[in-house]
Amino acid sequence: MGRGMAGKRAPRVNSLEWLEAKYPTEDSARRLFESLIWPHGPHCPHCGSAEVWRFRKKGRKSRAGLFECRYCSGQFTVTTKTPMHATKLPLKVWLRALYLILISSKGVSSVILGKQLGVRQPTAWKIAHAIREMTDDRDGDEPLLGKIVEVDTTFMGAPPRKKKSRFHKYVWNPPGKGSARPQVAVAASRDGRVAAAVIEKSDAQNVGRFLDRFVSKDAVIMSDDDRAISRAAKAFKEHSTVTHGDDQFAIGSVHANRAESLASLLKRAQLGVFHFISRKHLQRYVDELMFRRNQRRVITHQSIKDGTVTQEIRYRNFDDQLADLLKRAVGRQVRRSRSGGLEWPPPIAPGFALAPSASP
Ligand SMILES: [Zn+2]
Repeated sequence: MGRGMAGKRAPRVNSLEWLEAKYPTEDSARRLFESLIWPHGPHCPHCGSAEVWRFRKKGRKSRAGLFECRYCSGQFTVTTKTPMHATKLPLKVWLRALYLILISSKGVSSVILGKQLGVRQPTAWKIAHAIREMTDDRDGDEPLLGKIVEVDTTFMGAPPRKKKSRFHKYVWNPPGKGSARPQVAVAASRDGRVAAAVIEKSDAQNVGRFLDRFVSKDAVIMSDDDRAISRAAKAFKEHSTVTHGDDQFAIGSVHANRAESLASLLKRAQLGVFHFISRKHLQRYVDELMFRRNQRRVITHQSIKDGTVTQEIRYRNFDDQLADLLKRAVGRQVRRSRSGGLEWPPPIAPGFALAPSASP
């Protein structure tokens, strides 16, 4: 490298070097969090009032980022009543954690995250769950999947743990149909957007409830010949199937390859990254994986010369992803439980929705 090169070279956007150069101090990280968690200016998380001021005590140094509400006199910072509530970690560590999780398509295990952040594995596990808490669309802000939507169901996560007897040390739950493992319904629109949710059973009623929540009624559903999906799809504009048993995988534009690759992403993340996912937390991992998958944009190029169309998949910039995540922070909470684990307290006030993972 030539003399002075290191000083001149601008870090590439979305690189680790770029992140550290852009937010070098705790102060800059705090300003970033304040601008993204409160996109319309600071407001009190206790009562919702925007009549707030930066708290300063005369002659004394007060806590960084402390605000006071003029209406209810409550004090708060940008992390109060968010998943980062009462954190003792610097916001720079949170920013790095957000970066590491958002740039890895299949996620990061808490062991690796802990090493990268310089914190203990249980702390990293809690950080990851706090970030995961912001990945679901419980407020229904995202538009429904439309046009052509491929649907599939799959098994994921650990089978329920049974009581081990003196003679049977291991409990074997076979994979595939009829297994006791939790099931996940997946939907992938041809425009690139996706959704997935843990379902109680892959019957028409549960699949139907999933489709009602995520798919527009004027969509064309495509799937394999699964009977539950076929029955649930009757409520939609049209339904086309391919029969895998007859060696059919795609008939022209009728196929469910995208839904199947989405299902395999879930499985690869479980096998390669998270390993053991309990039924209790499964929806949260699914939410995380879907959030990241939805950060992809399909860009279509058409050649002027011969009109050939090519598609390219590009992830949105880290800044944009972070903005979408942190604007959901207020009202979503993860707290430490007395036993050293985590607990998910109920919504802070009317108007804040319950986490989808809290319902079944
Ligand atoms: Zn207040």
